Amino acid sequence: MNKISFKIGLFFFLSVLILEAISMFFLHDNIIHSRVHDELSALQTRGNNHREILEASYHDETIRHIALMESRTDTQVILTNLNGTINMSSNTVTPEMKRIIKSTPKDIPHEGMILEDDWKNEPYIASVSPVKMKGTDYGYVYMFQNTQKIKELISGLNRHFLLAGILSLIFMFIMIVFLTRFVTHPLIKMSEATKRMSKGDFSVSLPKLGKDEMGVLGESIAILARDLEVLKNERNEFLASISHELRTPLTYIKGYADIARRPETKQADREQYLGIIHEESDKMTKLVKELFNLAKMDENIFSIEKDMVDLQPFLLSIYEKMIPAFRENDMELNFECPTQLQALIDPTRFEQVIVNLLDNARKYSEPYTKVTLEAGEKSGQIIITVRDQGRGIPAEDLPRIFERFYRVDKSRARSLGGSGLGLSIVKQLVEAHGGTITVESEPDMGTVFQIML
Ligand code: ADP
Repeated sequence: MNKISFKIGLFFFLSVLILEAISMFFLHDNIIHSRVHDELSALQTRGNNHREILEASYHDETIRHIALMESRTDTQVILTNLNGTINMSSNTVTPEMKRIIKSTPKDIPHEGMILEDDWKNEPYIASVSPVKMKGTDYGYVYMFQNTQKIKELISGLNRHFLLAGILSLIFMFIMIVFLTRFVTHPLIKMSEATKRMSKGDFSVSLPKLGKDEMGVLGESIAILARDLEVLKNERNEFLASISHELRTPLTYIKGYADIARRPETKQADREQYLGIIHEESDKMTKLVKELFNLAKMDENIFSIEKDMVDLQPFLLSIYEKMIPAFRENDMELNFECPTQLQALIDPTRFEQVIVNLLDNARKYSEPYTKVTLEAGEKSGQIIITVRDQGRGIPAEDLPRIFERFYRVDKSRARSLGGSGLGLSIVKQLVEAHGGTITVESEPDMGTVFQIML
């Protein structure tokens, strides 16, 4: 048996044992007391009955009759006069009886009294009832009962108690062993599971434990294992993607650097190659910066400093910054926002969100199309929309575009300078603001991104 079940078991066993011992002791004491009390009062009542018969007719005949009646029972009657001289006895008078008779006090009440109740040490229990004739005392009726019978009765009772005690101890022991197993078995299973998890094995399966605390704990461990597994897989994928993303520009840089280094390379070509190297290093710098941001967001050390911001001027300034890039692509950028619309946002971070969305709309659209940046309020919520008429996103890619490094058309997106991190950063930033972002798209018709705050 393991430690915890032993501890729980021992604790239960001792508590129940103490409880049982105390209650048994009181029960035992009570039963004995009331049994002895019953015997004593029965003896006294019997003496009183004899006394009443005698008071009704005090004759030799009556006395003989009483003696005869008592000689058939396990009690004994003795009749004395006022001086203690024995007139009649239903059986042999022993010295102990004489001693008890001698100890009779004066002034015994008419309902009689118990003379000896020490059943443990004395051979007899005894009662006395005074006989009165015409108002004056006439003599005494003594009743004796051998205590042997009571002792036998009580030792029988003790045997029963002992048996009941032993049986209940055995039953209790079995119950406790069963219960502690029942409680500790799942605990052991869980501890094994967590040990395996710490070694990297997340394929834990715990038995179904119901809806109690134990069940909830088991369920949490199972969920933890699942989450850890997802996390581990995600991390591996993420690392693979990063190394892949870094390898591509590095290959370009190394390749073009090799050619540019050759003495026979023409000056004009060399300059072109150096330009490419410069461009690729820019991409890498951007990628590393975005990765760093993501890492900070993951660790929650990315601080969001919210301010009440007037959306109209805020969005307008972004719009104005973006306009030249759109003109260069022969695209139209529209802006609609009511005045006096305020939102609690971190302006720097939120600018990054809007710029990312507008930049995507620009990148993934053809010339002579229109992009709209729109803000409004609907049932207490601020809604910011970026709508384009670009190539759209296929339905099967839609659910994944917020994932890190996910790109619909890998080679094309890359040539446009995309890392696949933009939207995942946007989503994290919006969620850090307590908002949500949704996307709707139809291939070749356009895409709508909607932020709700
Ligand atoms: P990237 O840096 O490649 O743009 P993002 O995370 O910003 O990465 O976007 C992920 C992918 O989603 C992009 O590669 C692109 O295929 C698709 N995408 C994002 N915005 C749009 C849009 N407005 N129209 C069409 N496709 C888009």
